[in-house]
Amino acid sequence: MTACTYCGCDVEAHDPVVVFEGATSEGDPAGRYCNYGCLVAHVDAEGLATGSTCEVDP
Ligand SMILES: [Zn+2]
Repeated sequence: MTACTYCGCDVEAHDPVVVFEGATSEGDPAGRYCNYGCLVAHVDAEGLATGSTCEVDP
């Protein structure tokens, strides 16, 4: 089985979301999640969205 990066459940029992870092999907994924809920929960728990933004204030 493939464990969810966030909750450890078997992602293949769900509709998994796989995350890759960078512009390509080559190599090992950065994370696998049961669904977008687990992905968002992981981002919140790790504070991954804090201090990062695509926009720069003028
Ligand atoms: Zn999960």
